[in-house]
Amino acid sequence: MQEILKKSAMAQYEAIKNKEVSAVELTKASFERIKDVDEKLGAFNSLTEDTALETAKKADEKVAKGEELPLLAGVPLALKDNMNLIGSKTTASSKILENFVSPYNATVTQKLLDNLVPIVGKANLDEFAMGSSNENSAFKKVHNPWNLKKVPGGSSGGSAASVAACEAALALGSDTGGSIRLPASFCGIVGMKPTYGKVSRYGLIAFASSLDQIGPFARTVEDAAALLEVISGYDPHDSTSLKLPVENYRQSLNNDIKGMKIGLVKEFVQEGLTPDVEKAIKSAVETYKSLGAEVIEVSLPNIKHSIGIYYILATAECSSNLARFDGVKYGYRADNTSNLLDMYCKTRAEGFGPEVKRRIMLGTYALSSGYYDAYYKKAQQMRRVVTEDFLKAFSQVDALIAPTCPNTAFDLGAKTEDPLAMYLTDIATIGANLAGIPALSVPAGFDSEGMPIGLQIMSPQLTEARLFNVAYKFEQAHDYYKQLANL
Ligand code: GLN
Repeated sequence: MQEILKKSAMAQYEAIKNKEVSAVELTKASFERIKDVDEKLGAFNSLTEDTALETAKKADEKVAKGEELPLLAGVPLALKDNMNLIGSKTTASSKILENFVSPYNATVTQKLLDNLVPIVGKANLDEFAMGSSNENSAFKKVHNPWNLKKVPGGSSGGSAASVAACEAALALGSDTGGSIRLPASFCGIVGMKPTYGKVSRYGLIAFASSLDQIGPFARTVEDAAALLEVISGYDPHDSTSLKLPVENYRQSLNNDIKGMKIGLVKEFVQEGLTPDVEKAIKSAVETYKSLGAEVIEVSLPNIKHSIGIYYILATAECSSNLARFDGVKYGYRADNTSNLLDMYCKTRAEGFGPEVKRRIMLGTYALSSGYYDAYYKKAQQMRRVVTEDFLKAFSQVDALIAPTCPNTAFDLGAKTEDPLAMYLTDIATIGANLAGIPALSVPAGFDSEGMPIGLQIMSPQLTEARLFNVAYKFEQAHDYYKQLANL
């Protein structure tokens, strides 16, 4: 692998600016790396070589003319395959969209192209972003770059694996219940879910619209902060987009955190952690103390209900969102059908995988008359209760810390037969989606098998500058982020 690929995205960007490498050379190096390792990894559903090289060329032209280079111009990025990029297949890793070609760009994609960020390909995911291990892709599984027998986490497993394997310096994922943070923690990189409404969802294939949020993957906190600057901002195409100016998160990364109050979430360290994760979290507490922060235990008393709440709300919303895939407007249509209803049924029966079907059935049940009040309405009320827990916690502390996941990456196949065990993987990440708050996972060490451990940090809505600051201080106190998967 070429040395430049091991560098951070910001270092790659600086190298392009200083003419140490051209954006075209860097993008070609990225494709070389993909060709070398992706057969083993399965991180990409498709490559977008022409678009990427065209974008890189534009970045080089700017450098040649001495013009100012937009932030992250020329730095290769992997786009989760549930976001539209004109001319590319956007499959959501589903058979039903196997041959669907994007007719327009997602807002995030357009922002990347405007900043001349070469998009090298579409990253594999769990079908329609439903899953925690990336084993629900209709096409192929993704393998963890640290150990190919293990899962990369999901649903943005391809995005995380591609960055951890240095196929790309950056990636975008979507996070509905942890789908950025969980794979980031399993793959030993940084993954961040912004405040709900910070990043436009226009052009993202909807899973559960009240929870979905796009966010960055990178190998360093600074890179993730820079990427969020590029993709965030108000968008009239998304009715839940917040009308707020784009911030510069990088300027406050190194602020002193002396005197800051950090809350360790009691419920997430009480039971169920593997000993290695427990040790890493204890050591993170010590790191923060040594940086001058005050760490206290705080309680989110209702967080234990978050899995139940999430799997009612997310399935209800997905049953409605996925109704549009009926063989008429998009993608796959079944052959040999006798009438319209038969066509709908066969198309959906053949086009969707088992997990997606399970979710649609659960969601349809939760929304059906007679059960609506008992399930959907109750879950909405409980979502509010959990949100209140977070608000109360944030009246005591500036940020919360917890493990991103109680365990590290598990073996491929270990949980595929037991959906409930798979759902429990999300125990620590779902709360941030329910409350709409920003949260990230930062590398926090390795377990006895050498698999990465993630520390999750959460902060109040719209305080991503603080979140990045708290994460950066932790990152810089260790050298975990400098260690790369040996692939
Ligand atoms: N693992 C969770 C699920 O299966 C979260 C998915 C996500 O955030 N997209 O629903």
